[in-house]
Amino acid sequence: MLFKIACPECKTEGSFSLRDQRYQGPYRCWKCRALYTILIEDEELKSCQPLTEDEFQKQQEIEVMKRKFRKPE
Ligand SMILES: [Zn+2]
Repeated sequence: MLFKIACPECKTEGSFSLRDQRYQGPYRCWKCRALYTILIEDEELKSCQPLTEDEFQKQQEIEVMKRKFRKPE
């Protein structure tokens, strides 16, 4: 499903594809390129913290690893 996020920085709405009910991980605004760590639970944005480029890279790597180890559905 697609989850809509309004960027706290520029208020631009972006959509984010959600695989699970809960997501915690990086999000980048497509417009202003601002980076955030977001937490989505029960289709609600619970948390949105600014993220540095370094931290973003690390989180991206973790996400890629998680996908690799996920069993095909
Ligand atoms: Zn933005």
